[in-house]
Amino acid sequence: MEQRSLHPTLIISNVLLDDQPVHILVEGSTIAQILPATASLPATSSTCRHIDGHHKAAFPGLINTHTHAAMTLFRGYGDDLPLQQWLEEKIWPNEQHLDDDIVYWGTRLACLEMIKGGTTAFNDMYFHLSATAQAVADSGMKAALTQVAMDFFDPSRTAEAKQQFADYERLMASNQWPQVQWDCACHSVYTVSTELLQWVRDFAREHHTQLSIHASETQKECNDCQLRYGRSPIQLLDSLDMLDEHLIVAHGLWLSDDDVRLLGAHRCTVVHNPNSNLKLGSGARFLYSELRQAGANIALGTDGCSSSNNLDMIEACKTMSLLQKGWRADPTVLPAAEVLSTASAGGATALGWNTGRLEPGMQADLFLTDLDNLAFVPNNNSLSNLIYAAHADCVDTTIIGGQVVMEHRKVKDEALIVAEARRAARKLITV
Ligand SMILES: [Zn+2]
Repeated sequence: MEQRSLHPTLIISNVLLDDQPVHILVEGSTIAQILPATASLPATSSTCRHIDGHHKAAFPGLINTHTHAAMTLFRGYGDDLPLQQWLEEKIWPNEQHLDDDIVYWGTRLACLEMIKGGTTAFNDMYFHLSATAQAVADSGMKAALTQVAMDFFDPSRTAEAKQQFADYERLMASNQWPQVQWDCACHSVYTVSTELLQWVRDFAREHHTQLSIHASETQKECNDCQLRYGRSPIQLLDSLDMLDEHLIVAHGLWLSDDDVRLLGAHRCTVVHNPNSNLKLGSGARFLYSELRQAGANIALGTDGCSSSNNLDMIEACKTMSLLQKGWRADPTVLPAAEVLSTASAGGATALGWNTGRLEPGMQADLFLTDLDNLAFVPNNNSLSNLIYAAHADCVDTTIIGGQVVMEHRKVKDEALIVAEARRAARKLITV
């Protein structure tokens, strides 16, 4: 069979992939070919970019599947409080000050931090979506952005939320930001009425979007839901016909056997946010094995920067694995390869994207770690070093959709982003 001739636009030569030296050939936004490093490289045009991968290891880009990007500006503000008090006294009053400028620079700061930690895409739940989309585009990242519904059971706010979704349709129709996927979200079952939950369900299905929701995050939320509805949050979502493969449940920490069965049977995604759950004291016993066995897709997130304080997905990988080993008293559970797959391919499945694995035909979303970093010395096993020893600063190069957005830890406009984010934070936090 005749082979189609390759026209690589980016070549990463002599890089370790699964601890084997290879050349990764990228054509446009896609991985075209992976060759053993002993193979000779094809002839290339003068526009093809070369990255010397010697002494580096390649990994699929991490997908932060639940975050509130612009909340970077709340970093270190209102720590060590219970979730409800933190939301009601610290976050919601200051969020009244949000404007496009604040959200843009907060999101640029988030994207900068994510790129520097090997994260190539994220699933966001926040406000001022066109400013967020512009920040995503200017950063060179990919994101699923969601219009988020909240009515606090107040009928006038239900109507207002529906109007916001009507306005959102115009944004969804615009092709201004090709890196952005427009999705939907409901904040939670404790802030959204069943009328609005069902309305957003229909909106999401009509527009073929994913639908994110915080659910079963705290024991209090589950107890309150039982009192209000006589059901768990997951059972409530099931009774409202909201469970399907497009539903992305953030947290899913307090689950009954029946909840696990429902989430698995409907092929929902559950996003584990281990650092946020631990810091907010929400819980530690994420039912990873049970959910996997039941058939649910599992992804990894950091949650907003005000509850996990950073967007370091490599750190989240380690915490996720250690938590499972710890509470189950079983060192064999959730080995490194499964953690990485959850943090990359799990997110891709959640968002319906052709990425998360380094194989020909997949999107060229990847990062390279520097093997001179002490976390990779000696390099007995680069995957083990990544999950159990490394941190964001070990990432040397980040490539998103075939574009090099960081090389040797240099990102475009870093000083400007830092200065503007500091200015925006002073505008945001006044309470
Ligand atoms: Zn969240």
